[in-house]
Amino acid sequence: MNKQSFEFSELDDLYQDIILDHYRRPRNQKVLDSTDIETEGFNPFCGDRVVLGMKLDHGTIQQVSLEGAGCSISQASASILSELIKGKDLSKARNLYSIFRSMMHGENISDQDMEELGEAEALAGVRKFPIRIKCALLSWVALEDGIKKNLKI
Ligand code: ZN
Repeated sequence: MNKQSFEFSELDDLYQDIILDHYRRPRNQKVLDSTDIETEGFNPFCGDRVVLGMKLDHGTIQQVSLEGAGCSISQASASILSELIKGKDLSKARNLYSIFRSMMHGENISDQDMEELGEAEALAGVRKFPIRIKCALLSWVALEDGIKKNLKI
């Protein structure tokens, strides 16, 4: 068996369901009339692309728009992220990024941090497919880039 190819059957059933649900019905597919942060991620390996837009109110993410195309992992991960960051302030959102990155890199994270990740925990199984870790991280890295740029202004 090709170890690099992604097999849904190797993921826990519950996790498969969460990922497939977000892939088939991606959340926050809308256009906002204005955004305070707009950020994009692209992964040439499988052509994954995500564009995240955020509308802020006093540093809290009020609305999120997501546009994207690509593999199931990248799109499901972006959809989960778009739900997770709503209502969070920017430093909290960055913290979620760093927890998620640690999880994807196989570092130990506390139960409390894992709880913060909510449905994103479903992507932990993707660690078994190193080439797909980038797909899972794409939108999260884009989020971090977007926030960093915003904070510099
Ligand atoms: Zn991908």
